[in-house]
Amino acid sequence: MERTLSIIKPDGVARGLAGEVIKRLEQNNFKIAAMKMLRMTKSQAKGFYAVHRKRPFFESLTDFMASGSIIVMILEGENALGRYRELMGATDYREAAEGTIRKDFATDIEKNIVHGSDGPETAAFEIGYFFNSFEITG
Ligand code: GDP
Repeated sequence: MERTLSIIKPDGVARGLAGEVIKRLEQNNFKIAAMKMLRMTKSQAKGFYAVHRKRPFFESLTDFMASGSIIVMILEGENALGRYRELMGATDYREAAEGTIRKDFATDIEKNIVHGSDGPETAAFEIGYFFNSFEITG
């Protein structure tokens, strides 16, 4: 069993795609172990994406992530990390495989609907960034 952090980004929530994303998670046998809606401050967005602080798109990405409500979830399941990355599709929607969330809905490399942890250490950091133990129903 693995855990990964999933975010429906501000564009996904604003465009009314939350239900569609959650439906795909349920259809693909992910267990949602925790979920909440919130809006990050710019400084919280910078902390979340600290690994990207030297990238040219850091300012724009963190502005975007703080621009509206997001839905944060902990997904649980066998190979949850890899399976959720597969369901999301490549970062750049133009390179994403058919049938993935980003291929089906994204229109921009930055505003790409969803986030998913890229490895076990990142997942542990990201889960701890948003949730305490009382919020994880397991
Ligand atoms: P992910 O793990 O697939 O989300 O991709 P990364 O960790 O490489 O990048 C984090 C997020 O930064 C992506 O999901 C995009 O929202 C954004 N991003 C990545 N590459 C670019 C880029 O070249 N330009 C811009 N504006 N945003 C980017």
